[in-house]
This record gives sequence, C-alpha cells and structure tokens, in this order.
Amino acid sequence: MIPFLPLQRINARQREQLAAAALRVLDSGWYVLGPEVRAFEAEFAAWNGSRHCIGVANGLDALTLVLHAWKTACGWEDGDEVMVTANTYIASVLAITANRLRPVLVEPDAFYNLDPDALGAALTPRCRAVLVVHLYGQAAAMGPITEFCGRHGLKLLEDCAQAHGAALDGKKAGAFGDAAGFSFYPGKNLGALGDAGAVTTDCDELADTLRALRNYGSHVKYHNLMRGVNSRLDEIHAAFLREKLPLVDADNAERRNIARIYLEEIRHPLVSLPGVRGGPESHVWHLFVIRSRMRDDLARHLAARGVETMLHYPIPPHRQKCYMDEFGMLDLPETEAIHREVLSLPLWPGMTGEQAREVVDAVNSWSPE
Ligand SMILES: *Cc1c(COP(=O)(O)O)cnc(C)c1O
Repeated sequence: MIPFLPLQRINARQREQLAAAALRVLDSGWYVLGPEVRAFEAEFAAWNGSRHCIGVANGLDALTLVLHAWKTACGWEDGDEVMVTANTYIASVLAITANRLRPVLVEPDAFYNLDPDALGAALTPRCRAVLVVHLYGQAAAMGPITEFCGRHGLKLLEDCAQAHGAALDGKKAGAFGDAAGFSFYPGKNLGALGDAGAVTTDCDELADTLRALRNYGSHVKYHNLMRGVNSRLDEIHAAFLREKLPLVDADNAERRNIARIYLEEIRHPLVSLPGVRGGPESHVWHLFVIRSRMRDDLARHLAARGVETMLHYPIPPHRQKCYMDEFGMLDLPETEAIHREVLSLPLWPGMTGEQAREVVDAVNSWSPE
C-alpha cells in the first residue's frame, strides 16, 4: 500500500524535537503572540528573502487580510477587480469575494499557472490587483507578471500556499509581489500540526497594518484604530514550524528526486506528465499531477494496485454551488478540462525510490477498460 501523504511518518522524523517544542511552550506560560511567533517570523522572513513576515491563523486569512488592508489604504471600492487563475483552490477566490471585490477568472498557461499573455485581455479600468497562485508548487512566470503589474499600477499578491521554497534565479516565491500569503496547513511543504499561515512583504506600512489587523485591529492593547479580526498564529504552532523550517529545503530536494523518477519513467500513451517551465529550483512538487482523459479509470486501477491518489481539484471554483450566482454563466473550457482530467500521485519527503517505482509500474501497466 502506497499512501498519498503519510503525515504521521513525515512528522515522526522529528518526534523528539516536536515534543520538546511543545513542552517549551507549555512550560513558558505564554501561548499567543509571544517569543516563538516573533522568532519564527524573523526566521521565515530571512529564509524567504522578505523584509517582514506576519504570522496569522491560516493561509486563507493571510490572503484575505492583505486584500483588506490594500482596499482600505488605497481606497478601492466594492466591485473593484482582482485577476486570478480560474483553476485555483477555492481559497484564492474566497479571499477576493470576502472583501467584496470581484474575481476576474483567467484561464491558465500550460503549467497550470497565471498566463501572462492572458492578462492584457482581462484588464479593465476597475482592476486593482493580480493574485498569482504558484499552483502545485511551481513558480509562475513572475518576470512578465511583475512587469505587467508595474506597467498598469496593479498590486501583486502571491498565493504561496503550495510553493514554499520554489525559486526563480535564486529568488523565492513570496518575494516577488507586493505581498504573499503562505499556508502552513499540515499537508503543505512546510506544515504545522494544525492551522497556521503567514504574510510576507517588504512594505513596512502593510506589515504594521497586518500586525494590528490580525489582533482585533489593535496596535496598542485596548486601543483600536481599525476594525480587525482575531487571526493570530499560536505560539505552539510557531514553535513546531521553527523545528520544521530547517528541513524544508532538503525535503523539497527529496520531492524533486521522486518527481524526476516519475518524469523519466512514467510512459503511457493515455497519460500526460506535468511540464516544468523554469530551472529545477522553480518547482517544489507540492503535488505531482498527471492528466488523462480516462482519469477515473486510472484512479480505480491504481487503487486496486494499492496506490492512493487524490484530485486537485474535482470542481473548479466557478462551478461550485456557492458561486453559481456570481460565475454561473462563465465558460472556461481549459479550466474545466483540467478538473476532469487531473490525478495527483503520491509524493512526500521520505518516500523511497522503490515506492516511487511501484507507482511507476502501476501507472505503466494500466490498460483501460
Ligand atoms: C491550502 C491553500 C490555501 C489556504 O490555506 P489554509 O491554510 O488552508 O487556509 C490557499 N491557497 C491555496 C492554493 C492552497 O493550496
């Protein structure tokens, strides 16, 4: 049996350290916004190459709070637009609509990311920002996207929930835009033992606003200049994340090794493999996503061979019931085809070459009904 993502096994590698971190917090008597959060924010900002890191409760809040801060500071109005890829996880879109902004859903490029050539046609006078998602762990085409945003005066927000450590020419995802949102949900490349997230930015003013917004809008205790929320990163998760951060680069290297085996050895006329746009550092393989017109049959075959798979994702945001009123009329054929055809194979740090080859053999031996 090859599990999709054995989190217990991944965290067991650091069982003693994580237990010690939990005890450190327990014994400190300080559980919210204390020394562990401050230390993690400094360590994560340094690792990512950003001036600031602001810990928040989860990845969705990271994106939502940045857009909220910009909307207020820049005087954006309800219904102003934010461009985003149509084939993203729904959180990217929820962050936009939660702020009463309008998502402009753009079809992706061949790498499942925002297509810089599609931005011009989607631009309207009400567009205020671009939300670029580094989907599946692959850095988007940040050169042309950054250039486009600069030329048109748009804010650039990166959704790095799947792309911790992905880099283009040595610069990490999350250090390109005006701000970036990270998730440390347990299954991400850097994961806590529960919900956690962060914003990175080089902007002092935005960092200052977010530190208040996440804490009821309060810069100074019991003094509220703005209406904030409670979206704080817990000390215990910051402590776990500090233990795990030093492993991310090595883990990503292991993910690349497994991905290389899949890319070199999976050979099937009905299966297409993911493309890599940049150098080896540009992809951290949060997910290894193959495509087939007969995806469901392949998934059944793999399950019968003991290989667990998942779908990322089965339904695109514009086809979700909750967005029927907003997007019900939209036709996005490329995005819809992606959701019908994608299948994610098991891949995790610590997976052996032998296990990867079992997956390869299972795929290659598939003969559809
Ligand atoms: C996981 C994820 C999020 C949301 O992160 P949470 O911490 O679960 O709120 C946002 N965007 C993408 C692309 C994700 O994969």
